[in-house]
Amino acid sequence: QEEYDAGLQKTRHSFRDKFNAFMANFRSVDEDFFEDLEDLLIQSDVGYEMALKISDSLRTEVKLKNVKSQKEVSHVIVEKMAQLYQEDAADHDFTLNVDSQRPLNIILFVGVNGAGKTTTIGKLAAHFKSQGQKVLLAAGDTFRAGAIEQLQSWGEQVGVTTVASKAGADPAAVVFEAIQTAKKEQYDILLVDTAGRLQNNTNLMKELEKIKRIITREVPDAPHEVLLVIDATTGQNALSQAKQFEKTTQVTGIVLTKLDGSSQGGIVLAINDELHIPVKLVGLGEKVQDLQIFDPQKFATGLFS
Ligand code: GDP
Repeated sequence: QEEYDAGLQKTRHSFRDKFNAFMANFRSVDEDFFEDLEDLLIQSDVGYEMALKISDSLRTEVKLKNVKSQKEVSHVIVEKMAQLYQEDAADHDFTLNVDSQRPLNIILFVGVNGAGKTTTIGKLAAHFKSQGQKVLLAAGDTFRAGAIEQLQSWGEQVGVTTVASKAGADPAAVVFEAIQTAKKEQYDILLVDTAGRLQNNTNLMKELEKIKRIITREVPDAPHEVLLVIDATTGQNALSQAKQFEKTTQVTGIVLTKLDGSSQGGIVLAINDELHIPVKLVGLGEKVQDLQIFDPQKFATGLFS
C-alpha cells in the first residue's frame, strides 16, 4: 500500500482536491448536487456513461440511507467508488497469463508512441528475470531507430538479450527471428515491442495483425497476452485510441502507465466500463521497480485517502 500511495500521489491529489473542493460547496442533496457530481466525475476521466451510472446508484443509496449531512454524503460517495473499483475487479482475472510449464510464453505489447511500451517491457523483463526466467526481447518497432536503441538499452540494463534489426526492416521478420532464437535457445518468455505511430493508422494495424499472425503460426497458443499500454495522463483520448487497437489485436489486458503523474484516476473505471478489458499492470514511475500488479482495492483506497 505504501508504494502504491507514494506512486499515486499526484493522481490522488488532483482527484481528491477536486472532490474536496466540490464537497466544500455542499449545500444539500438535490438535483443540482447530482448534476455537479456528474460533471466532476466526467472531469476525472470516469467517462460519461460511467459518471451517470455512479450518480444514479448514489441517488438510490442516498435515499435509502436517508443521508443529509455533508460528511455522510461524502462517506457514501467514497464507499460507492471503492465498491465499483472492486466490482470491476471481481469480473476480471488480473494475473498475467504466463506459465512456467509452457515451453515459451509470448507477450505482445501494443500502444501509441510515448505510452510507455518500451519502459514497461524493460520493467517486466527485470521482474521475470528476478524470478529466474530466461527472457528475450524483440525490437518490433522498426519504424524508429530510437525505439530499437531504447529497447536494447533496457535489455543491457536488465541483462537480457534483444533481437533487433535495422530501422525500416520488416517488424514481422524481426519477431519471426526472435521466436526462432527463443525456441532454439530455450527461452521462457519473449516480450515483443511494436510500433505506435498513429499518423498511418491503417498500415500500423495491418502490421500488428501480421506480427500476431506470425506469432500464432510459430507458437499456436500464442500470443499469451496482448497488452495495450495506455498513458493514464491522456485521459479520454487514451480510451479512443484503445478502441482502435482493440479492434485489430484482441487486447487481453491493459498496462496503465504514468499513474504517478497527474492523471485523474477515473480512467480505470472508464476502461473497464467501455472496453471490458482488465487493467493488469500499472506504471508508477520511470524506474525499473516502478511497475505493479493492479490492485483495485489499493487503488481505490489510495485515491481518496
Ligand atoms: P513507448 O513509445 O510506448 O515505447 O514509450 P516509452 O517506454 O519510450 O515511454 C515514454 C516516456 O514515458 C519515457 O520517458 C518513459 O520514461 C516514460 N514513462 C513510461 N512509463 C512511465 C510511468 O509509469 N511513469 C512515468 N512517470 N513515466 C513513465
